[in-house]
Amino acid sequence: MTLQTPKWLGAHKARNLPELFHQKLIASDRPWAHCDDGRSFTYGAFWDLAGRMAARLSSAGAKRGDRIAVQVDKSIEALALFWACARGGFIFLPLNTAYTTSEISYFLTDAEAFAFIVSPTRLQESLPVAMAAGCQIVLTLDDAGQGSVLEGTPSVLRTDPPTRWGSEVGIPPSALLGEVPEGRRVAFADATTSWDDIAAILYTSGTTGRSKGAMLSHGNLASNALALINEWRFTKDDVLLHALPVYHTHGLFVGMNTLLLSGGQMIFHRKFNAEDVMRDLPRATSFMGVPTFYTRLLQHKGLTRESARHMRLFVSGSAPLLAETHREFEALTGHAILERYGMTETSMITSNPYEGARRAGTVGFPLPHVEVKVTDPATGAELPYGNDGMIEVRGPNVFKGYWRNPEKTKEDKRDNGFFITGDLGRIDEQGYLVISGRAKDLIITGGFNVYPKEIEEVIDMLPGVIESAVIGLQHRDFGEAVTAVVATKTELDEADIIRALKTQLGSFKVPKRVLFVEDLPRNTMGKVQKAELRKRFAGLYG
Ligand code: AMP
Repeated sequence: MTLQTPKWLGAHKARNLPELFHQKLIASDRPWAHCDDGRSFTYGAFWDLAGRMAARLSSAGAKRGDRIAVQVDKSIEALALFWACARGGFIFLPLNTAYTTSEISYFLTDAEAFAFIVSPTRLQESLPVAMAAGCQIVLTLDDAGQGSVLEGTPSVLRTDPPTRWGSEVGIPPSALLGEVPEGRRVAFADATTSWDDIAAILYTSGTTGRSKGAMLSHGNLASNALALINEWRFTKDDVLLHALPVYHTHGLFVGMNTLLLSGGQMIFHRKFNAEDVMRDLPRATSFMGVPTFYTRLLQHKGLTRESARHMRLFVSGSAPLLAETHREFEALTGHAILERYGMTETSMITSNPYEGARRAGTVGFPLPHVEVKVTDPATGAELPYGNDGMIEVRGPNVFKGYWRNPEKTKEDKRDNGFFITGDLGRIDEQGYLVISGRAKDLIITGGFNVYPKEIEEVIDMLPGVIESAVIGLQHRDFGEAVTAVVATKTELDEADIIRALKTQLGSFKVPKRVLFVEDLPRNTMGKVQKAELRKRFAGLYG
């Protein structure tokens, strides 16, 4: 049997993520991350942290393929834990810090986690749950990077691979953000994993039914990081202002891996705060955010052309960016936000171009080695350009399947490798992908299909409207009735809005009712929680 080098790997010779890290490493004494608690880490120190944690887990009995569940506050150590798992051949399983103990119980049991690493403040309540779920060990890690996950490992020099350590490579750390201390080294022999081995299981946010564990391989994650570095032109001179959570693919893999494998640096904020972002923006070259980050930044008086002068790139994703936000941001800063599209199961799929028009309301073109097509949801047949349908994706980024759920994997992943995303959209005449919403949010009213986004776009343009969410609610005559939930700047009249919409939309698309709210409910990634709205307003039509 001959082993083929995957095409996405290009000239790299690595066989797994840790090897790729070494091949991309410029020098271990280069600065890597500067945290808002004052601590900084070199690449070497970060790697050593990962080695210490891998050694700790290994001495506790963790074996290749074991799941290491993690529910900790954001810290550099939380990122290093992913690399500890990659080095040890374990599977990293990050969990949203907002999950309750009963939710955690489900994840630990479903994943059959070997270890649970938790914030010390939640240790007491977590212990019985972890034990009941069959975890072998519970360790702690706090937001200052302290905890039992780091204790008890010997402090000796790692020797493999010897030539990449220290300043042998001869490149001094960048002067941009100052010198940072070296870390404590440990002996840890990395597992010999392959591109096909699972590196992480990320549970989907699961707005309907129980959330499912998406298995992501070393190859899935590496191919996506390399594609993004290339498409977004990341180099060792970049400094990313990192303010996203690290239990989700956006902050965890898009943020960390893109920078780590391009030799750049991060200014690391443990929480998003517009004031703090504005303070550090002049030292950064790039920023990644969910749309809510941008609407908050737009409300900050400090956001000007001058304050964004050093910036090279603003990226948005994880939820739709309003075209209005895109325009306002560009008018104020001179930067066109680059919107991309991705999901837990596939990492990033498409991106607006780095060079060329970044078109508001679109998510751009497929990344290298990634194929996207739009199909008829009923038959699976490919649809011509301009037609709305199901977005399907194939490529080295597409996950291996749902953890211990072959039925669901089979339902969503075709035999030909295409993954059915559950997102509806169309490819416009210039090849840009436009997302029109989640399939489950599609409204069928009196037999007509209504795409909420089309209506939301029209409502959002009305004077006095901040934003809107269009949902379908049960209705005796229509099956579902198109209903708009609108956040406004000023008091608006329901009948006026309906009248205005009638001039622009086919009558079956015009909402039967318009409801006013102060804010639309969103999760931490900025996604509007339509399921919550449907629940809140259920029974409106009797
Ligand atoms: P998650 O798995 O939590 O990352 O959620 C993925 C979902 O977020 C996708 O299936 C889309 O519905 C949505 N999404 C991600 N990026 C965008 C975007 N740029 N525009 C619209 N929706 C997006």
